[in-house]
Amino acid sequence: MRKFLNKIISYIYPNRCISCGKVQKEAAFCDECRKSCRPLPKERCAGCNQCVLNCTCSLGNSYEGLVSAYLYAGTARDAILHFKFHARPEIKSPFGEEVARLVCERYKNIKFDGIVFVPMTRKGVRERGYNQCELLSLVISEELGLPIFPGGLVKIREGDKQRKLSSAARKKNVKSLYKCMDDMSGKTILLIDDIKTTGSTLNACANELKKAGAVTVYACTIATAL
Ligand SMILES: [Zn+2]
Ligand SMILES: [Zn+2]
Repeated sequence: MRKFLNKIISYIYPNRCISCGKVQKEAAFCDECRKSCRPLPKERCAGCNQCVLNCTCSLGNSYEGLVSAYLYAGTARDAILHFKFHARPEIKSPFGEEVARLVCERYKNIKFDGIVFVPMTRKGVRERGYNQCELLSLVISEELGLPIFPGGLVKIREGDKQRKLSSAARKKNVKSLYKCMDDMSGKTILLIDDIKTTGSTLNACANELKKAGAVTVYACTIATAL
């Protein structure tokens, strides 16, 4: 019965490529669009062995590592913008599955206690209808069999729009925006965000988690901006 219903539903609402909209078997990138998503550069930092764009050597970094599925450009960028701003919550699945795959591959020796996602303010969630980082976390949690810490982080107030600020101003802006509501003593945490730009949001969040007792925080995002 369930199968039959699904068939009807997929007939009425056919799955489409999340980027070009071509009707296909599942809501994911079509082959062509997947190929045009740019991966991160291969060069690794000699210090931390991270992708050069996500080097964690620099002083004041509160997270131990970061993996990103794509470069924030082209097809991947368009799809992320749809996911965030054009009411396309279903894009969580292909993105979440890809990030989960990378986490397995790159962090295979790390035993995570659970997941914390970068929160939005309650007003922000109300306006958008969902927090895309939370949706992403649900997929990753299922894929990896990890719990999501319910009281992980909350966003206390709206900061200025990060996109318009310089790197120094971003750092100042995100300080004290986030608060950890749980005791994270001794925990190893997987922190989830959508895009890493300067890393100031991830840093502010990881910092809060460490203040709450977390020992290590590894981050993952769909994309890294150049
Ligand atoms: Zn496509
Ligand atoms: Zn480095």
